[in-house]
Amino acid sequence: MSITDTHDDSSLTKGLNERQLAAVTAEPGNQLVIAGAGSGKTRVLVHRLAYLIQHYGYSPYELMAVTFTNKAARVMAGRVAELLGIETRHLWIGTFHGLANRMLRRDYDLARLPRDFQILPSDDQRRVIRELMKTHHMDPKQNSPTELANWISRVKDEGKRPEHLQLGRSPDMRRRIDFYRIYDEFCQRNGLVDFGEILLRCHEMLLEHDDLLKDYHDRFGALLVDEFQDTNVIQYHWIRLLTGKDAHVMVVGDDDQSIYGWRGAVVQNIRNFSQDFPNTNVVRLEQNYRSTANILNAANKVIENNDDRLGKTLWTNAADGEPIHVFSCHYGEDEANYVVDRLQDWLREDSTRTYEDVAVLYRSHFQSRALETALQAEAIAYTIRGGARFYERTEVRDAIGYMQLANNREADVAFDRVINIKPRGIGTASQERIRDYAIRHDLSLWRASLEGIEQGVFPDRLVSRLTEFLDEIDRVASRCKGKHLLEIADTCVYESGLMDYHMESERNEQLRETRRENLQEFIRSCGIFEAKFLQEELSEGEKTVLQSFLDSVSLDAGDVEEELGPAVSLMTLHAAKGLEFPLVFIVGMMEGRFPHHLNLDDPIKLYEERRLAYVGFTRAMEELHLTYATRDQGFSDRVDTSRVSRFVKEIPSEFLNYERPRRILDRRRFRRYARGL
Ligand code: ATP
Ligand code: MG
Repeated sequence: MSITDTHDDSSLTKGLNERQLAAVTAEPGNQLVIAGAGSGKTRVLVHRLAYLIQHYGYSPYELMAVTFTNKAARVMAGRVAELLGIETRHLWIGTFHGLANRMLRRDYDLARLPRDFQILPSDDQRRVIRELMKTHHMDPKQNSPTELANWISRVKDEGKRPEHLQLGRSPDMRRRIDFYRIYDEFCQRNGLVDFGEILLRCHEMLLEHDDLLKDYHDRFGALLVDEFQDTNVIQYHWIRLLTGKDAHVMVVGDDDQSIYGWRGAVVQNIRNFSQDFPNTNVVRLEQNYRSTANILNAANKVIENNDDRLGKTLWTNAADGEPIHVFSCHYGEDEANYVVDRLQDWLREDSTRTYEDVAVLYRSHFQSRALETALQAEAIAYTIRGGARFYERTEVRDAIGYMQLANNREADVAFDRVINIKPRGIGTASQERIRDYAIRHDLSLWRASLEGIEQGVFPDRLVSRLTEFLDEIDRVASRCKGKHLLEIADTCVYESGLMDYHMESERNEQLRETRRENLQEFIRSCGIFEAKFLQEELSEGEKTVLQSFLDSVSLDAGDVEEELGPAVSLMTLHAAKGLEFPLVFIVGMMEGRFPHHLNLDDPIKLYEERRLAYVGFTRAMEELHLTYATRDQGFSDRVDTSRVSRFVKEIPSEFLNYERPRRILDRRRFRRYARGL
């Protein structure tokens, strides 16, 4: 591919400061750009890529760029195309997984994979593991499927196969390693490749086939990696392996934004880089172009409290801008209303602003619930990045399933869902029998179960297990009868055994906490729905509050198709990495919520929480709002979140402006429902 003459280098070097320019135009060689948020790291990487092609004559085919998310990869490819006026089809720009997968697809046979090998998403991986455990008579009490899935992913991220693991004395470790072997064999037989496997297998394939590796070495002249601080062991080795002796590597990253330590990322990779890659030119960028001075300085002050840093300070030429707005209130609903009011004001001030300019960030997934409700009430389009909408999350849908079934035993979809939540020994074959009977006699699944048992058409084992299931639902339903919605939700979550099930089956502490929080938030949301129902007389005709609630969540779930136009972004702080928005809200700034209560006692984990705050604050370009709700305990929440987050307190008061509430909830009524009856 030839580069058109209409482009001279000036289009690639325009809009870069001196240091950025030096990094972009440097003679080909290894470079480590280590710099704070918004200092133009990603910009430098993109311009470097273009410059290598245009100025140094690299073919697009010879370059590879790696980023953290597909979205970032798309943006990057778009920018390069724009800068050079070329098509980017030939560029290898993608995520680690995406690029490694591409290599496996090309040479599947060398990787000992079938041509049509299938990628196994984490949900399916867990299912496969559960089935395999059954076949091999493993006790789920000793190791849950999720726990094993997480453990296997983790060791794969460390580049380890069963034979690389120390057996040790612990029987638990032996069991895990044995199972890892069984699982790998199963996947191999069935042509399945899980996420962790993609990179590991690609790495092995390259190691085992010198010719292939040499091809790639001949091919790639330069490799560029964004968000380098969050790479894990296997990713680092993969990059090293792909770098031939003539190729060079540019990595860009920020140790202050390393937020995936809990998932195996190694900040040490930044520190090792200069040793592993010869003659590395280290570039430091110190000017921030993203945020106003107030936002940037506040973020700098907060991160200064971490004393494990490589150390750097960012400065800006930007004006002070607005102070950071801090809003304190009682409940998450107040926070959500504040967000909605403020973002509407902000949009009204300037007609060029759109919903896309706005992001609302939070520490834990469950916190999206109140925000979603408030945004929906005002018909504001929103999208949840990196996660499902609240009422679509597995455990929440499970709870709704129980509710539906308790409300109407003939609801087949709910029957299907609930019978499959926990292992009951009623497998697909048995469920097929029930369905068959239902179809033949034109009955609901519930009726078919009852009649089938009565008529003696099911085998004994199924009869006893099915009876148990029907009894369980009857029991839950009878406890729900005539109760408040809040109590119904509580029954469907706790007395149904749903909460226990999720707590027992999920061994990963973070994920378990997410499920617990979502289920508790679900109960709380029912209390709030009921309070509003009574207050605003939402009741349509004779519909009960339960029916109205079920309708509203089903309608909400059906709404996902939209999102064609601009939408407000809702996401966790983790998902916000690398992005920027003119207006940013961070809700739930309370001790216990953020920093997360699981990470309060360990200084290392607290440092990671603080880096997360730093990432969050530095997403904002023009305005940053921090909100906290001190009575927002959730009535069954054991965590004390009554104090404002240390990350707010660490911001000097000169940068802050305290906001007054404009509309607040009907306290008396609200408290009664939201905090337990
Ligand atoms: P993060 O650490 O959050 O990933 P980053 O260091 O990658 O941030 P970029 O996203 O590349 O930073 O840049 C931040 C913002 O500053 C972008 O809007 C970018 O266009 C702008 N920017 C970067 N360098 C310059 C410059 N020299 N002149 C003007 N704007 C710049
Ligand atoms: Mg970046």
